[in-house]
Amino acid sequence: MIDRSEQRCGFMAVLGAPNVGKSTLVNRLVGTKVSIVSPKVQTTRTRVLGIRMEQSAQLVFIDTPGVFVPKRRLDRAMVASAWGGAADADRILLMIDATKGIDADSKMILDKLRAQDKTALLVINKIDLIDKQNLLDLTDRLSQSGSFSDIFMISAQTGDGVKDLLARLVESAPLGPWMYPEDQISDMPSRLLAAEITREKVFLQLHQELPYAVTVETEGWQEKEDGSVTISQIIYVEKPGQKGIVLGQGGSKIKTIGQSSRLELEQLFGHRVHVKLFVKVREKWGDDPERFRDWGLDFNA
Ligand code: GDP
Ligand code: MG
Repeated sequence: MIDRSEQRCGFMAVLGAPNVGKSTLVNRLVGTKVSIVSPKVQTTRTRVLGIRMEQSAQLVFIDTPGVFVPKRRLDRAMVASAWGGAADADRILLMIDATKGIDADSKMILDKLRAQDKTALLVINKIDLIDKQNLLDLTDRLSQSGSFSDIFMISAQTGDGVKDLLARLVESAPLGPWMYPEDQISDMPSRLLAAEITREKVFLQLHQELPYAVTVETEGWQEKEDGSVTISQIIYVEKPGQKGIVLGQGGSKIKTIGQSSRLELEQLFGHRVHVKLFVKVREKWGDDPERFRDWGLDFNA
């Protein structure tokens, strides 16, 4: 047991444009999936905590929805939540996608950090996708456009460079008592995590605008004597016409979603899982204050 006076505890917000790999990095740092990932933008809807114990340090990562120019009410709330995460943190990790460089969204973040006089730790991600010379050029341009305490080049996907980043984060965590139990990895309740996992499968299975019209809620959670659990969930869509697309021909789509969700939940929870999915229409859930409250988002952001 580490002496309380030697404990470190650092809140680290991961900030960046949509799709730069924030959730992938947080999952890798935590060592297990706490935040869902997809190739589509705006997969993460709210702040997700992922916790890593490393030597005397408890690192609490705040995965945020991306920062982008908002269009809908939900967008505004997500962006506000991202900046709120940064305001609460001891350190900010600004993440840039090496293949995209300083695009409009990233530029907006760089400008805002500068306006607030905030120093961030720069993390250039997806280095597995670009060549060395391009990477060096990008690093040069970035170091001139912001105030960074450190610069790391990593691949959150392959893990390249993540060990060095982690070592630096441990060093930079302020001295102070741990805020969470040592074995806690997230602040997300199992029911919500299970709903998020299913929502990830919806993102992976459905295309164009539809994933953004979907929200998932866990309705039932029944543990059986044989150690298995039956999880019932409702996939809400915004319009009656979207129901058929989620179901797919003869129910094939929803079956695929249910199967891949089940496989992952079994891995996560370490026991057998049955997933029962239902599709319902809830018009305008994107304008429903109660949904925002469920996700810890500010309806009036
Ligand atoms: P977020 O929106 O910033 O949270 O991004 P995600 O973590 O959801 O990742 C967006 C997409 O980029 C997903 O398809 C990831 O698999 C992919 N991705 C994340 N990190 C890397 C990386 O280091 N290399 C490559 N090639 N892909 C990555
Ligand atoms: Mg994300």
